[in-house]
Parts: sequence; C-alpha cells; structure tokens
Amino acid sequence: QSLNEEDGYFASYTHHDIHMTMLKDKVRTESYRDFMLKNPQLFEGKTVLDVGCGTGILSMFAVKAGARQVVAVDQSNIIYQAMDIARENNMHEKITFVKGRLEDVVLPFQKFDIIISEWMGYFLLFEAMLDSVLWARDRYLNSDGCVYPDHFSMKVVGISDQDLRKSKLGFWDDVYGFKMSCMKTSVSDEVNVRLVKEEQVVTEPAVIKDLNVMQCTVADLDFISEFSLKCLSDAEITAVVGYFDTDFNQSCSERVSFSTGPQATPTHWEQAVMMLPSPITVHAGAIINCKMIYRKHPKDSRGIIITLHIDKHKLKYTLS
Ligand code: SAH
Repeated sequence: QSLNEEDGYFASYTHHDIHMTMLKDKVRTESYRDFMLKNPQLFEGKTVLDVGCGTGILSMFAVKAGARQVVAVDQSNIIYQAMDIARENNMHEKITFVKGRLEDVVLPFQKFDIIISEWMGYFLLFEAMLDSVLWARDRYLNSDGCVYPDHFSMKVVGISDQDLRKSKLGFWDDVYGFKMSCMKTSVSDEVNVRLVKEEQVVTEPAVIKDLNVMQCTVADLDFISEFSLKCLSDAEITAVVGYFDTDFNQSCSERVSFSTGPQATPTHWEQAVMMLPSPITVHAGAIINCKMIYRKHPKDSRGIIITLHIDKHKLKYTLS
C-alpha cells in the first residue's frame, strides 16, 4: 500500500465532522457505552487497548466502567484533541495516548486484558481496519483476554426500488434528448451506500458470513459465500443490499447488539446497495441461488470488490 493512500486515510479522520457523524450515531455509540457500563465486572481493574481512539470516547467509557489503565492509539491528528478531552474530563491519569500507526508504535504495556475498537466500515469490511485489530489481538492480547465487539454477521436481502432504478439508471436513457446508456455500466458497477426502506425488502435475509473476531484471520476476510434468497412476495428485484449485525460478548449476561439492516434504526453505515442491470421477476416462495465473492481491492488496499452471481447474471461491484 502506498504511503500517500495511507496518509489520505488518516487525514480523513482529522476533521471534526467525521467524528461528529460517528458520535451522533446513537445506535453505534450507545451500544458501545451500554455494553461497557452494563458489564463493569468485565472491565474492573483491567488494562484496555483502544485501537483507533478518535476523540477517545470508547476509552472514556472504559474508564467509567472501571478499567485500571487504558492505552489509546490513533495515527490521525484527532488524537491531540482526544488528549485535551481526557484532561477536560479528568481522565488523563487513566488514559495514555500514543500517536502513530498501531503496527508501528511502542506501547507502555506488553499485553492487555481487553481490546476495544470501532473499526467497522461500509458493508462491514470497507476500510480494512479489522486487519489492524486482528494484528493487535495477536500481538497484544493476554491469553485469556477479549476483543469487543466480538461477533459479526454479514447479511444480504433483495429489494425492489423502482425509484432508485429510474433516478440512477433511467436518467441516462434520455439526457436532453440524447442517449447515454453506456453511462449505466459505471453506475451499476459501484456499491451505492444509501438507506433502504424496510418496505422495499422483498426477500428474507441471508447470512453470507459470520465473523468471530477472537478467532478469525485476515485471510478469512477475503471469502466466497454461497447462499439463497427466499422471496417473500411477487416482485421485481432491482438490487441486492448488504449490511451487518454486531454483537458484544454473546456469552455475557448483559448482551448488547445492533443491526445496520433496513429493518433497524438507521446508522451512519446505511446499507450497501448493489443495483442489478436488469430487474429479476420473482414469485412469492421462490428461492434464488446466489454466490458472492468478497475480496480486497487489488489497487486500493482499503477498498472492496464484490462479484455477485445471481440468476443468470455475473455482476461486479466496487466499493472504493
Ligand atoms: N474510536 C473512535 C473513532 C473510530 S474511527 C470512536 O468510536 O468514535 C477509527 C479511528 O481509527 C480513526 O480515527 C483512525 O485514524 C484510526 N485508525 C485506523 N487504523 C489505525 C491504525 N492502524 N493505527 C492507528 N489508528 C488507526
């Protein structure tokens, strides 16, 4: 990966706007908060590593939950603000900030009891930040330690959204009286991150991948999944939509989880919409067999390329 690409990635986390967007996402931030504050027995007296601390919000929740010491790492300049924020909240003695790429820095402890991180990207793996969390797990986690959140489920549904089809694809059929239909290819080649309405969903959700953060490896993050979509009504499927569900410690008493699917309260991750070049007509009860090949983008180390086999189509989408 080129240095410039990486610099650009971390620079994007320097501006206050992106942190406000994440902090305002209550589904996200309150899930982390509730998990930590409702499970103080997991945090009391423990050492915690916060991978990619941003404003330091997760580190402060960990201190509130009783952590003995927190080490917060971020390569982005936002960490200088996080230092001020910790001081402002009189938590600066409990949180040690380390600026740098997690993979490069020297930390004040050899091992940690807990790793917390909010690394999730669009359709879960965009940004490839989980790679850094897995690296931290293998390098820094005590043998009886835990990473939170620890379980993810990636899902897809079929939707029928004729308005989106018209506005994104139909537009190119008549532009001031000219046809520009070749433009449609580049539209339907992209994963479109946007909110889908629950009413548009016309299939049952299918799980394409379960990820256990305590066990998985970077190699597991490039995968092939065969699945089937069960149709709920007579409909024209215009797009396949991806999202993920997040679980904090499935085994503890105060379990916390959230979904980023169309049926749930919207989050800043929205959904990953993959438009079909032509709609597929289906009947209630029909089963559509599909295959998805989910890979890191060869030219953009933080991007994703998805190949979707559905019906007779083989479609390729980029999230970059
Ligand atoms: N934990 C904060 C911020 C999450 S955004 C919150 O929940 O609000 C992810 C952060 O991780 C960004 O600030 C980014 O700069 C940082 N980051 C991503 N990969 C990193 C790495 N390898 N080393 C250090 N920081 C990283």
